[in-house]
Amino acid sequence: MNLAVPEIQEECGVVGIYSPGEDAARLAFFGLFALQHRGQESAGLAVSDGRRIVVHKDMGLVTQVFNEEILATLKGGLAIGHTRYSTTGSSVLRNVQPISCESRNGCISIAHNGDLINATDIRSELEADGVVFETTNDSEVIAKLISRSDAETIEDAVTEAMHHISGAYSVVILAADKLIAMRDAYGIRPLCIGRLNGSRYVVASETCALNVLGASYVRDVEPGEIVVINGDGLREIQAIATQRHALCVFEFIYFARPDSIMYGRSLHEARRRMGHELAKEHPVRNAHVVFPIPDTGTPAAIGFAEASRIPYAEGVIKNRYIHRTFIQPDQRMRDLGVRMKLTPLKENLAGRRVVMVEDSIVRGTTTGQTVKMIRDAGAAEVHVRIASPPYKYPCFYGIDTAAQNELIAAKLSVDEIREYIGADSLGYLSLQGLMRAIGVKKDNFCRACLDGKYPLSISDQAKLQKFVFERETKEEPVEA
Ligand code: SF4
Repeated sequence: MNLAVPEIQEECGVVGIYSPGEDAARLAFFGLFALQHRGQESAGLAVSDGRRIVVHKDMGLVTQVFNEEILATLKGGLAIGHTRYSTTGSSVLRNVQPISCESRNGCISIAHNGDLINATDIRSELEADGVVFETTNDSEVIAKLISRSDAETIEDAVTEAMHHISGAYSVVILAADKLIAMRDAYGIRPLCIGRLNGSRYVVASETCALNVLGASYVRDVEPGEIVVINGDGLREIQAIATQRHALCVFEFIYFARPDSIMYGRSLHEARRRMGHELAKEHPVRNAHVVFPIPDTGTPAAIGFAEASRIPYAEGVIKNRYIHRTFIQPDQRMRDLGVRMKLTPLKENLAGRRVVMVEDSIVRGTTTGQTVKMIRDAGAAEVHVRIASPPYKYPCFYGIDTAAQNELIAAKLSVDEIREYIGADSLGYLSLQGLMRAIGVKKDNFCRACLDGKYPLSISDQAKLQKFVFERETKEEPVEA
């Protein structure tokens, strides 16, 4: 869901369930739980019993928002769910998804992952037409476009909306008797379809959610496609033409869970091969140990250790109850998060030349603090290896990156970054090495934050701040 920008942060997870006669809310809850890594600020479910949609949503983790009592009130065989990291619109209750509204074809609820790059223009037009917005996120723009349509069916209204909106969006929509999924023309954010059995389906951001539900992977929702699932089965509509696939390459580097599969590749294996490539491109002679910054750096560190024949060990212990610092809403929370998140394992570090493998560097402050912590634990040398190329350009497609002037690789050379973070040496994986590791042609990816080539051109107007809509709307949280 969103328009915006400020460090790399994700994003959202979405899930949809079509399973008449079963407890769809509980299935969607398990699906959302598997997608918790994609957003930890809020969670919500919308459930239909075939006639009426009921929504429950709140701030917090999936297990904080839902319990047995609440799930028991959400009756029906169709459901959608959302777990949110805010990229457009602040982290307050009124921005929590799913968003519901009345349409000519009855009540609908929607859940969105991504950022629209023309939401401001569309919102202004709709407001000039008397439409009142209740949230400050761009997902409501999609909901309002669908709800105002005169089209005969919801599918037609969704198709119309897709002709207006531009940007990154993977969306699930719940109507009383059907589940709809749609994906932007470039397929920037992931969205896959799984089959529970017979005519029961799951749609989810990642295949890890299908695994948890025991669903078999059918295929991805294609770029520009709408998938409609109802009593007649699964129907596909190519709503808008696609130019090419441009899946966010950071799904492979960082965002998606390692047990997910994208483009037919295991993310764990791809990350392990990133470590192999990194070891070839930036070897470290005579190191005693390779360790990861867990968890996302772990497969690449295993790969680096394998390729370089340096022993792999844990160098830092992660407090598993602290969530990703990447996904904290502001710098103060991120700084606090770093100190609480990692503890050095002195017995594996003291007196040793160590290789620290991390998935990426955005601002550099977190990496600098970690290198200092490793030195304070007695490491003799700290060699930092990054399993992705330098992150130089901001993202406008649903990843809440820093503004460009906060991106360390946009301002400093590799050697200057090495000095800034206090490492003995620093090596980044090349784009070619990254693509070799993934094993998919680079033209199938958005990699704009690495090479500045945006698949969808970004107008100045679209280069908005995160809280763009809050300038126009009173910031008063409303009850769900
Ligand atoms: Fe992903 Fe980077 Fe493209 Fe954003 S700019 S969608 S983070 S590859």
